[in-house]
Amino acid sequence: MIVETSLDRLIRAGAIHSMTGEVYRSVGLRGAEIAATSPEPDGLDDLAGPGTVITDGGDLTLLPAFADSHEHMMEASRNTLLVPVDRARSIAEFTAMVEAAARAAAPGAWVMTSMAWHESNLAEDRLPTGAELDAAAPDHPVIARRGGHLAVANTAALTAAGIGPGSPDPPGGKIGRLPDGRPDGLLEGGAVYQVAGHAPVPTRAQLVDGLARGSAAYAALGVGTIREAMINVAELAAYREAAGQGKLSVRARPLIRVGNELTEEQAIALIDGLGAPAGGDDWLRVWGLKLVMDGGAEGGALEQPYADDPAHSGHLNWDPDVMTRVCTHAASGGWRIGTHAAGDRAVRTLLDVYEAVAAKAGPLPPWTLVIEHALLSDPAQRQRAVRGGFGVTVQHALLWNMGSEMLKTWGPERTSRVNPLDQWLAAGADLAAGTDMARPFNPMLNVWGMVTRGTKTAGVQGPEHAIPVATALELYTLGTARLNHEADRLGSVSPGKLADLVAYGADPMTADPDDLAQLTPVFTIVGGQVMHDPGGLLGPTQGRSKVP
Ligand SMILES: [Zn+2]
Repeated sequence: MIVETSLDRLIRAGAIHSMTGEVYRSVGLRGAEIAATSPEPDGLDDLAGPGTVITDGGDLTLLPAFADSHEHMMEASRNTLLVPVDRARSIAEFTAMVEAAARAAAPGAWVMTSMAWHESNLAEDRLPTGAELDAAAPDHPVIARRGGHLAVANTAALTAAGIGPGSPDPPGGKIGRLPDGRPDGLLEGGAVYQVAGHAPVPTRAQLVDGLARGSAAYAALGVGTIREAMINVAELAAYREAAGQGKLSVRARPLIRVGNELTEEQAIALIDGLGAPAGGDDWLRVWGLKLVMDGGAEGGALEQPYADDPAHSGHLNWDPDVMTRVCTHAASGGWRIGTHAAGDRAVRTLLDVYEAVAAKAGPLPPWTLVIEHALLSDPAQRQRAVRGGFGVTVQHALLWNMGSEMLKTWGPERTSRVNPLDQWLAAGADLAAGTDMARPFNPMLNVWGMVTRGTKTAGVQGPEHAIPVATALELYTLGTARLNHEADRLGSVSPGKLADLVAYGADPMTADPDDLAQLTPVFTIVGGQVMHDPGGLLGPTQGRSKVP
């Protein structure tokens, strides 16, 4: 056996599911790629040389590393720079973290919390008040943003933003008030940005550091690729720096935001200013553009009124004619476009837009015009999406996380048919699975949800829409590789493909579905590099996951 062809790494396992139908028992890696596979545990022994690191994992099951079709790793990474109040379980713990951060901060510096917290995780099941933040940090502006649309700020932060007793609500926003009219610290919609706009933005170096930590956390959960669903040009520069310095532990496929606050001319100028749509490498490659058509559980554009407000049916952010012209310009220039459409009215309107774009700029390859979420849809819409070749990214994790909110705002009937993967598949749709959780999320919990329709606090919703575990895994690996136009390089365990692998101590194909929710990786390899191996099964390695 000549040394040049010997494997860098040989892994024997109980089962290696290729995602293309084969089950192997051994896989050999060389450099960044899968060099060979065999249905026998000892089938690749002839390819081992003196330098080959061999792992005997007869009790392990290997899969391709997960590829998340829609996630916000930049936001999750930024959260690592912020006060981690998502870990607090009471108001007292929450305010103690804010107090400690203020003590450690420079005099008068802003204190900003992670956005990834929710009051349902606090014993009191309520938001902290502005007064409680005042008590914790009277001399520092404090803003505790919760998700994208809500925040609590203290008096110093309100003052820094020029908000006082007589301040009017900003457009599209609401300033919470005490009975006497003074602001109480609660901020909604546009009011969040009115205050957050005065807080300092992270530096490039901080963002790069955040991406190093954030991407390592995703890799530790078995993720190999993330389609980064919305960043701006400054954040893309941080991604390029992190990738250039070898600090990304997962591959990223970013979408650049084209905001609906832009005029048609500004949107087209932004797209033209991005240069050519192609480029990048296996670690970082811009996927395309991102537009947002409507809101979420509170603002999604619905065909029928909201269950909790008959006068409300959500909002559409774009004028469809303007959007059609912007998207036609982009698609004609080779750009791929992903558009957030949550409600069924948004999905129908987006189909109108995409059909018009395809008629003018087409024919377009599959996964060029993509529907993000399509939480609610009807059979006619699903048929139109299939006929038009418009793929859909689906995130059961949204139903898992927001099921209780949806029950309130959309009602039980609509909630039970959120993301009906069985119906989409029966219609012949192109699907790719992901999370949209803006935080490292265990892919196996998401798989459990697709297989059981289970949720965090809303029980089982629409069990008839469950799909088999093999299908869920396929949509979460090969499905996303197709979405990213790289199924020739990623998404299955096949010789010549990139060596992105995750190992488990149980076989998800045969495990009790309820055991999937707790299943976490034994190790993760991305591009042949060990990114996660707490048990040291892969021997001494030079992984990238050096960040604590
Ligand atoms: Zn998203």
